[in-house]
Amino acid sequence: MNQHLITDPEQCKRMVFLMAMLEAYPRRSDGGLHLEEYPDHNPLVLQDCSACRGRGKIMRCEADAEGFTMYGDPCAACLQTGITGGVERYFENTREIEVAVDSHGLVRCPGCGKGFTKRSKKFTGLRHRTCGQRIKIISPEGS
Ligand SMILES: [Zn+2]
Ligand SMILES: [Zn+2]
Repeated sequence: MNQHLITDPEQCKRMVFLMAMLEAYPRRSDGGLHLEEYPDHNPLVLQDCSACRGRGKIMRCEADAEGFTMYGDPCAACLQTGITGGVERYFENTREIEVAVDSHGLVRCPGCGKGFTKRSKKFTGLRHRTCGQRIKIISPEGS
């Protein structure tokens, strides 16, 4: 952590707050999601800083005589924590949509358009794991 990023008492207060939030809630990338035990799990997670996309650093590529070098500049927006201090639900999409199994045995996700089988690991029984869309699978006619 680069201490020089903090230049005034307000930022210092903000840093203390952000650190407390980091202890209280999981990061979106931390795998705080337990869909195996709880298929409908939709935990509160820390909102990622949009300026650095949650990395805490803003990457920059600079050309020099030998080629290119990547630099990670400390993100001032989030004081390098990668978070805004806000929390949000892991999946924003909570509306359930009914989808029928097609003739190939596939369910086409209305959220992202990808197809999967009913027994796929990509389906939690309630949600398409990849995009979070809630899906109620309805059996095709006559089966
Ligand atoms: Zn940031
Ligand atoms: Zn999907």
